[in-house]
Amino acid sequence: MTAPLIPVAEGIYQVPIPLPFALRIVNCYLLRDHDGWAVLDTGINTAQGQAAWRAAWGELGVQPRHIQRIFLTHVHPDHYGLAGWLQAQVTADGGQAEVYASPREIQQARLIWEQESTFDFAAYLMRHGMPDDMARAVDSGLDDTRTMTLPHPAALRPLEPDSTLDIGARRFKLLLAQGHADGQLMFYDERDALLLSGDHVLMHITPNIGIWTETDPHPLRRYLQSLETLRHLPVRLALPGHKALIHDWSGRIRELEQHHDERLHHTLQAVHDGHTDAYHVALRIFQHVRFTPHEWRFALAEALAHLDELVLRGQIAQEGDRFALA
Ligand SMILES: [Zn+2]
Repeated sequence: MTAPLIPVAEGIYQVPIPLPFALRIVNCYLLRDHDGWAVLDTGINTAQGQAAWRAAWGELGVQPRHIQRIFLTHVHPDHYGLAGWLQAQVTADGGQAEVYASPREIQQARLIWEQESTFDFAAYLMRHGMPDDMARAVDSGLDDTRTMTLPHPAALRPLEPDSTLDIGARRFKLLLAQGHADGQLMFYDERDALLLSGDHVLMHITPNIGIWTETDPHPLRRYLQSLETLRHLPVRLALPGHKALIHDWSGRIRELEQHHDERLHHTLQAVHDGHTDAYHVALRIFQHVRFTPHEWRFALAEALAHLDELVLRGQIAQEGDRFALA
């Protein structure tokens, strides 16, 4: 059992929320706000997740009505899933808290969680080479995930990238961090060289960069460009969405760049060896890994992002959903 909350900076506590996936934990944060508290990221809706929030509040003597604002770095289920429940707790306790995300993430929440999307996800996976039965298993797994994002927040309020936002005594600049999600925001306190970095840069694991049915074009190109810019940002401490705190910001960015260089090399090798679709390229790259169908979908989307970057670099050619050496 992890501690219900960990002090990580002046006025900021990390709240580890358990997840029913291999990833195990999402790091959420409680920040001292003007007359109460702000929450950054929420977890996914399970009984264990709710209990973890209650334990954290108990430790600090916080009542739900003391929470004034709920911020989301992005709307992936492990960050968005408890936002509606949290908001409802605040309301039931006599308070009021709006939920905020970037405009692009608000749009994504509508498409994915409110099911306004018209894409057929199983068909998409099959088109990229995934066997039919696996694609259907993945698709029905997504319905379970969607259930764990209920109830949805009453409304999502927009947070504009590049704007500034005061939370308690801190002033944050909102930095758009594309790649893992199209509209992810990081919260940067320049005075303290402190960054709430979401899932953009992580220790021990590499953030998934994938092409999904609704992704803006060329996510890996955007991600690599973003790392290039962020490498020079003065950061003494980054507070990430998963795993350990980041103390060597530029060092970790270098490692991530190196990882993608190697992955691009292996992707090119797989195409060279005659694999023509994203699923079979992923099978080749992860040939020694035992993935669940849920994890194969990440592997497929990630292979597709690397294939796309190789096409941009002119190293391979794309025709429809098939790839070959240029
Ligand atoms: Zn995450």
